[in-house]
Amino acid sequence: MLPLAEEMNHVARHVRTCVECGNLDMQDKCSICLDGRRDHSRLCVVEDVSDLWAIERAGIFSGLYHVLGGTLSALDGRGPAELGIDRLVARAHALQTSQDSQPEVILATSATVDGQTTAHYIAERLEIAGLKITRLAHGVPVGGELNYLDDGTLAQAMKARTSL
Ligand SMILES: [Zn+2]
Repeated sequence: MLPLAEEMNHVARHVRTCVECGNLDMQDKCSICLDGRRDHSRLCVVEDVSDLWAIERAGIFSGLYHVLGGTLSALDGRGPAELGIDRLVARAHALQTSQDSQPEVILATSATVDGQTTAHYIAERLEIAGLKITRLAHGVPVGGELNYLDDGTLAQAMKARTSL
């Protein structure tokens, strides 16, 4: 137990927020931001660090992240300043252009009313020439059966259908 307790103590004392993306790490800039092998032309916007980790765990994205720390919420008094939207806009301007891809910002906020309101607001703020803005698809979960889905999810899935 003692080594574990000491390790947790060490982490608790030294963990800090990345000055670039808002991820948690033991250094000022996190290992994702410092990794030159990652795709520096893509930025994935997430609400929380746990969302970043979920995407990393899935191994489906090799670009950079931007952690908002929540969603816009008038009720909770969280506005654009609290979410660091200006910093996000500056980072979007600074995305690298590579030969085979144009810079892209992926809005991976939750499929909640607040999450989608935040995504729409950010999309409006990111009207930058040559910047592609995408968001995660909403619809049928893998392994999900249609007759168990709610109407809203089914409607989104129908709207976001793709060609085979
Ligand atoms: Zn970082």
